Amino acid sequence: MAEETFAYIPASRGFYDLPLGRFLPLLPREVISAWAGAHTQPGSLILDPLGAHPLLSIEAAQAGMRVLVARNNPILWLMLECMARAPARGQLQKPLSKLMISRRGGQTLEDQLRAVYATPCAGCGQMIQPQGFIWEQAGSQPVGRVYQCPFCGDEGEREVTESDLQNLNSLGGLGLHRARALQRVLQGGDYEQASIEAALDCYLPRALYGCMTLANRLEQLELEHDERLLLQAMILLVFDDANSLWHWPAREQSVFQLNVPSRFLEKNLWLSLEKAPERFMQFRQSIPISYWPNLPPSSGGICFYQRRLAEKEDLFQNEQPAVVVSVFPRPNQAFWTLSALWSGWLWGRKGVIPMRSALGRRRYDWRWFAQALEAAFKDLARLIPPATPMFGLLSQAAPNHLLGLLVGANASGFQLRGLTASQSEEIIQCTWQSGTASSGGSGPLPFRAAIQGFLEARGEPAKFQPILNDCLAQLARQGKLPADISALEETYFSQLQQQVSELLHDPYFVQSFQSGPSGGSAYWLVDSRAAQPPLSERLEAALLQFLQEKAPLALADLESALFNRLSGQHTPESEALRACLECYAEEAPHAPGLYRLKSSEEPNARARDVDELAAILMTTGEKFGLRVRREAASVIWENEQGEPQYAYHLISGTALSPFVLDPAQPENATKVLVLPGGRARWLLYRLRQDPRLEAAFESRWFILKYRHLRWLAAREWVTLDLWAELLDDDPLQWDASPQMQML
Ligand SMILES: [Zn+2]
Repeated sequence: MAEETFAYIPASRGFYDLPLGRFLPLLPREVISAWAGAHTQPGSLILDPLGAHPLLSIEAAQAGMRVLVARNNPILWLMLECMARAPARGQLQKPLSKLMISRRGGQTLEDQLRAVYATPCAGCGQMIQPQGFIWEQAGSQPVGRVYQCPFCGDEGEREVTESDLQNLNSLGGLGLHRARALQRVLQGGDYEQASIEAALDCYLPRALYGCMTLANRLEQLELEHDERLLLQAMILLVFDDANSLWHWPAREQSVFQLNVPSRFLEKNLWLSLEKAPERFMQFRQSIPISYWPNLPPSSGGICFYQRRLAEKEDLFQNEQPAVVVSVFPRPNQAFWTLSALWSGWLWGRKGVIPMRSALGRRRYDWRWFAQALEAAFKDLARLIPPATPMFGLLSQAAPNHLLGLLVGANASGFQLRGLTASQSEEIIQCTWQSGTASSGGSGPLPFRAAIQGFLEARGEPAKFQPILNDCLAQLARQGKLPADISALEETYFSQLQQQVSELLHDPYFVQSFQSGPSGGSAYWLVDSRAAQPPLSERLEAALLQFLQEKAPLALADLESALFNRLSGQHTPESEALRACLECYAEEAPHAPGLYRLKSSEEPNARARDVDELAAILMTTGEKFGLRVRREAASVIWENEQGEPQYAYHLISGTALSPFVLDPAQPENATKVLVLPGGRARWLLYRLRQDPRLEAAFESRWFILKYRHLRWLAAREWVTLDLWAELLDDDPLQWDASPQMQML
């Protein structure tokens, strides 16, 4: 299968942030719709067989596509149903108010919940609602409370009071709530029970009291269908707020395991409930939702299907999907177990059935991932037309997850066409097409050629993970992945990893550089004659060209043009792109959001600089009594014997590899790169990424900024000896100027 060099679609518009987002795979905005838009007509039917991220369907439907999405996890289904309605405040508030004023034993739910959290303000003594209580893992009582007093303004972390502890103790009989929380979920089997208990261990007794109170009241309320659905979605957010998986102080991070942090916040569930409507109000445009076999209208929408329909071969009886799109979730024990728990709390035991498999397992390895994908994809690949394209995103992935993905897709009959990745955005993007599973060819693994090809394409050293990822992609492309997953050894991944590692430690093939400040070893070819110029220099040249020819440009358009120019293995890091952009571009003064070349960077101005500074170097060398000559943008100072003493190379960007990596540079001369001071941040970024360059500047090379050269040359009293001393007086530094808004 020929490689398709498809362009990385950057996360220029950032990532989605949504309720429960900490459990979901990262989804960059408008990446799926950009790809689908380029490969389908408006109104096309597109298939999302995993349904792992609700905003994939919403975004595609908003872009006018009809999305057929698998209904797998009931929690994600509920989120999607609610978000697609784009409910207004009133729609959310109405069922919420019914819940809040519902009474039991003469007490409203509102009074009941507020009472269990109320705390006296340390400033004014009034009883107030705190944001929550701080606990330490395995502690028997809270160690602090966090609040903002609406009466006196006192705010922050305060010690717990006797009143707080009495309040906690007065709830009494909390074992009962845990028993109920378990009973609503339990289907049978010791192993399932152990999984549910592990999830319940992530809930404090007061939190379970709150959750069970909500679950019971919800059951007893009389509500319209839509009201119930919206209220369930809001209560779901409270169930998530109620667990102890909230690090204190708060930090943003993905959650994969049911591990309670050493310090965590017990959130005030009354406040969570009160704020729940706001969290669904970021969705403005409502989207038609239907259930198979009723497909969405031609203007776009979302249709749910049950996976067993694919098994029964009915799914595409009326229409075939034009493309398949997926966000692949990393195995997430925490989310899947909690989904089972929450489903039971919302719908009772029958609601747990779709998630039961998650309760039967607590360990997920790459082979499990491959098998799960095969289970979701194999029937589809048979049912859709051959050569149907599939696009997928894998985020925050270790190489073994990537292998699981590649093996699972291959065994299902999807053949890998292209793979491109951004380490800095932590996203891998792949394209496949449907066909038949390749059966695992024999013969030696293609890793030596893969490493050589990858490093030659990049033109600069690379770290282990991107090299390994590329080797795995080559296996998939060349049909060398095994099709029978069940026969795979658990050690298959570590064997592949070991082989790549051994090649990278063959001193006749690869040189390795020990970890610098950027961390991790980097690898480069011993024989690099066939290598391209460094990718970062090609990136810089392309960026400059776009800015000269097409500016002013929106950031997203500029980034997308660059990734189209430099695609496949040649994909630069988004982080590099932005560091380089910051060095050359500024926001256009009368067009906010559009970027153009800084006026100081106009090519004519830069060419004049180079000529002027070359002339200064000629004159100065003569003043010191040396023989001077100019070759293109280089000025050489020689002694009377014609031996080079100084070699200056004038550049306006950071394209320094033709000089610094040139073995023919005079051995004993002082070698100096002359460049504008505004390149400092970008150049330092490059040096940190490329240990070859870093080593050269530690020992043999100097950098002379334009302004320092002008200053130095204008000093009448500077002798040749002083010149040698002062040359290095204005070194590269991260300048303190604030970063541009866009970055
Ligand atoms: Zn107060």
